[in-house]
Amino acid sequence: MDYLKLKDGDTVAILGGGPAGSFFVMHISGLARKLGISLNLIILERKSFVAHGPTGCNMCAGVLGGNIVNMISGLDLDLLKLDSRVIRQNVEGFKLNIQGRDALIMRPSSKVYTVFRGVGPRSEASSEGFIGFDSFLLEEAKRRGAAVINGTVTDIRIPQNPVVEQCTVLYQDEMNKSHELKAALIVGAFGVNSSLSKKFRFGYVEPGYWHTCQTELMAGSESDITGYINIFSRKQSKFLFTAITPKGKYLTVSGIGEHVKFSELVEELKALHLDEAMNVNLTSVCHCHPRLPVTAAVRPFYTRVVMVGDACVSRYMKNGIESAFITSMSAAQTVMMRGIDEAAFRDSYYPECVMKFVRDNRFGRAMFFMHSVITAHGRLGGAVIDTINDEGKGPIEKQWMSNITWHMFIGDEPYRAILRSILNIMEMIGFLFRIAGIKKRAHGK
Ligand SMILES: Cc1cc2nc3c(=O)[nH]c(=O)nc-3n(C[C@H](O)[C@H](O)[C@H](O)COP(=O)(O)OP(=O)(O)OC[C@H]3O[C@@H](n4cnc5c(N)ncnc54)[C@H](O)[C@@H]3O)c2cc1C
Repeated sequence: MDYLKLKDGDTVAILGGGPAGSFFVMHISGLARKLGISLNLIILERKSFVAHGPTGCNMCAGVLGGNIVNMISGLDLDLLKLDSRVIRQNVEGFKLNIQGRDALIMRPSSKVYTVFRGVGPRSEASSEGFIGFDSFLLEEAKRRGAAVINGTVTDIRIPQNPVVEQCTVLYQDEMNKSHELKAALIVGAFGVNSSLSKKFRFGYVEPGYWHTCQTELMAGSESDITGYINIFSRKQSKFLFTAITPKGKYLTVSGIGEHVKFSELVEELKALHLDEAMNVNLTSVCHCHPRLPVTAAVRPFYTRVVMVGDACVSRYMKNGIESAFITSMSAAQTVMMRGIDEAAFRDSYYPECVMKFVRDNRFGRAMFFMHSVITAHGRLGGAVIDTINDEGKGPIEKQWMSNITWHMFIGDEPYRAILRSILNIMEMIGFLFRIAGIKKRAHGK
């Protein structure tokens, strides 16, 4: 089939300089070089990632699992540089707390790093030599040939016949001056925290999302919460879970619930008694309300337009940065190997998104439903905590419940693979015995 192709010297406008936009540049620039095609790659980004607080930050928990770290290294990115200036902490384990009882899962061999997406919280006076993760990626995209325009995209014009005519991007620069940019291809990498989705009038509908809430706390040297990622689930709470991610002297608290407010997160933290139990200072030094996509976009492509990252689809409740990497790689491959018309994206890019994320997310939703049932029923929650604590004495390969829980919240396994490992008959029988009270509790507070 003859698809519409990019030509030498064509302009590609990438709307958004978060991970998806920067990864797209890194992938397409490598492919274009191999094919001997020269492209004019332009990223339009409204934020300045050197500003402290939410205005310079793409607001997330900042957990990078082993997969994404390996994927980034595969792009020939200097991981040592990433280590020393971007990584805030190396995390070796995570603590699951259900209804006040907890279990620790240690995975020292799994590389899990924590980063700030921006340069740091609002309270931080200086960056102390650190740079934000998104700034690091954007600099790398520049190094690989992209021009970055600091401006806000305000509208998109797609011509009546996009096969013969190019698209137009309208944007305002830092001085509020309006500009127009002709582009042979538009890449929507604007995430879900943007009103830009409404400007695409070909049937694109952005993913459904939850309004979540995050706050930054000071860790405090005496606190015993700083070594691990902590996940708390509480009965009769508006939050599906609350994650506390250590980042050196800060703790990022992510309250994950359907449309939750800052005041509700403050109440949740009080209800968890972190100040008494873990010696955490609950005074917030920064907070934000990021949107978390929970469904996939409808029609994320058209002739000369393709959406990547959160604006298209990401893994349910975890690994959003890895999803941004995978969708932008797949879109770049389609653009360079197939073409840029609707048929090329429908035949090649979209089926990959469906296979890797849309289908897998159904299993993810089922697993988080199970998690809320477990949290709501004291005996089930207690059995999960007891099983993990018991398993801690044995080798990692034999830690059935611990491995499931690790991969559900922190690790990189797709949900289908996690669900498959749940269906281990012998382990299930042991767990059912424990729920019935036949197996004795060995550990746990
Ligand atoms: C509470 C929470 C915790 C999370 N924790 C993690 C985690 O620990 N690990 C993980 O991997 N993922 C996590 N995620 C998911 C992760 O944040 C996203 O999946 C990831 O940021 C998606 O990258 P993106 O580039 O698609 O979108 P974004 O990161 O949102 O980037 C979009 C970019 O587009 C720009 N933009 C938007 N509109 C315009 C416009 N009109 N003009 C110009 N620029 C524009 C924005 O400024 C932004 O820089 C979390 C999400 C939430 C909500």
